[in-house]
Order: sequence, then structure tokens, then C-alpha cells
Amino acid sequence: MVSYKELGLVNTREMFKKAVAGGYAIPAFNFNNMEQLQAIIMAAAETKSPVILQVSKGARNYANATLLRYMAEGAVAYAKEIGWENPQICLHLDHGSSFELCKDCVDMGFSSVMIDASSLPYEENIALTKKVVDYAHQYDVTVEAELGVLAGVEDEVSAAESHYTKPEEVIDFATRTGCDSLAISIGTSHGAYKFTPEQCTRDPKTGRLVPPPLAFNVLHEIEKKLPGFPIVLHGSSSVPQEYVDMCNQYGGNLPNAVGIPEEQLREASKSAVCKINIDSDSRLAMTGAIRKYLAENPSHFDPRQYLTPAREAMKQMYIHKIVNVLGSNGKA
Ligand SMILES: [Zn+2]
Repeated sequence: MVSYKELGLVNTREMFKKAVAGGYAIPAFNFNNMEQLQAIIMAAAETKSPVILQVSKGARNYANATLLRYMAEGAVAYAKEIGWENPQICLHLDHGSSFELCKDCVDMGFSSVMIDASSLPYEENIALTKKVVDYAHQYDVTVEAELGVLAGVEDEVSAAESHYTKPEEVIDFATRTGCDSLAISIGTSHGAYKFTPEQCTRDPKTGRLVPPPLAFNVLHEIEKKLPGFPIVLHGSSSVPQEYVDMCNQYGGNLPNAVGIPEEQLREASKSAVCKINIDSDSRLAMTGAIRKYLAENPSHFDPRQYLTPAREAMKQMYIHKIVNVLGSNGKA
């Protein structure tokens, strides 16, 4: 049993309280490798933004669970080394699928876990979420739960169609589970293909796809039912067209990749939405930069050569999100 407190990590309780009161959102960035982690920490340290490092089940399978945990521990020391005196870093399990997985992460030093039982019937979702909360709270680890189903694919999480969260269920769910935050479904979606072209309109000037707007009415209903309760948005990458274009220009094939417009995420950040999950944008920035570098430098083969601009592209993307979309800069 390792306590996250010994590792210098923090849970989400204070972060979310301040974010809800201050009208901003905390960035939750997924990481699977060193360059992503470096870019996240550099961006957070430079902007003095609290940050949530997210590890998915897929990341644990890819990079090894033990190694990722030690990387997060190293991230705290690294943040201090580069001048962030009091780093506010949370290590969070993204889409925990079972009690055992959540328990494993709590025992390993995670400061926050998500139990995603949203695909189960309502009463089973409550029972499993409560079981995780009861365990995690013994160690002051915060728990995110999910109600409603998102469309799209993120690692093993998939749902053919989205079902918006029902506002009439949230009070009962939050009260009976004791969860610390709630991921809701209001039209965001996992992956880089959040909407089909048929669901979108086209901007007549640019010819780009314009996705349908988020269901802010559902969000506002939920806020009315649970005033000040921390709300989480998954699947909130914007799929920046500059990176999609960069991928496509240098040999990629990403037709019709489309995300959530940043104006809508900015608006959501000012509400009770206090955690916004961004993963695909980092993948796109990294892949675009690597494709470009390798196309322009065909004789290079040292990974450090192409991973340096990839890391820089991710860092700039993270800074942009923190400063221009979430508004969490200067809050840590
Ligand atoms: Zn998610």
C-alpha cells in the first residue's frame, strides 16, 4: 500500500472546489509515454495550472502499470526541478472498469480514480460506484463516476450511440454513491471522429465540418439539481484542424476528423464543469509533428530528433488549452 500523499500528489477535492467557485476547469490529460508526460508537466509548470494526469486501462497495458505510477511520482519531482514550487498534480485512473482495478490503483498511489459503470443498469451502476467510493475514501482518494453514455471509442470504452445524462437521476445517484464528481453525457464523444459528416453541417467558407452543439440545456438542468457539484466532460478534444492537416499533408489519412469546438468548451468551463478530458488532441499534435519531421528529414533515424518537435507541439497545445480554453493558468 502506497499513499499518494507520500508521492507528493493531491486528490481532486480542493482543485474542483476552487475551479467550480472560480469558473474555470482543470485539464485532465492522458499520458502513455515519457514525451507526453514531459510536455504536460512543462505546460502546467509554465502556466502554474493544476493538472490531472490520466492513466487509462489501455495505457496501463501499453506502458506497464508500475512504470506509469513511478513516472507520475517522478513528474512531481520534475515539476519542482523546473521551478514549480508547489505542484498540484493529481494521478487519476481513467475509465476504471471494475472494483479490483480501482482498488489496485488506490493501493498503488493514485490520488483519484474513475469507476465507469455507466453501461450497467442504473442500480448496478450505483452499487459498484458506492463500493469503490467506500474503499477509496478510506484513503482520501477521490472518485469520479459516470451517468449517461458517450458515443465514440476511447481505448476499451465504446458505445454505439450516446444517451444524455438524465437530470432527474443525478441527485439520487450522487447522494447514494457518495461520488466526488460526475462525468455526464451532453454530446461530447471519445476519439478523433466524434461526429459523422451526416451529423454535421459544413462551413460554407472553409468547407470544414461543423459539429452539432453540446446539450447545454441538459448541463444547466444538472447544475440546478446539484448546485456546485463537480461535473466532468469526457471526450472533449477539439481535433485542431491544423494537426489533422499536418497529418494528412505528410502521408496520413484522417478524413473528416472532427471534435468539440473550443468556444463551447470555454463556455462549459465557466459552469460547474470543472474537469475536461483531452487525449486525442495530444495524439494528433504528436503524430502530425512526427510525420512532418520525418518527411522533411528522411535521413534522420534518432528518435530524439523527431520526438523533440513532437514534444514541443504537445506542450504548445497543452498551454493553449490551459490558457485559452480552460482558464486554469495561475491557479496553482
Ligand atoms: Zn473518457
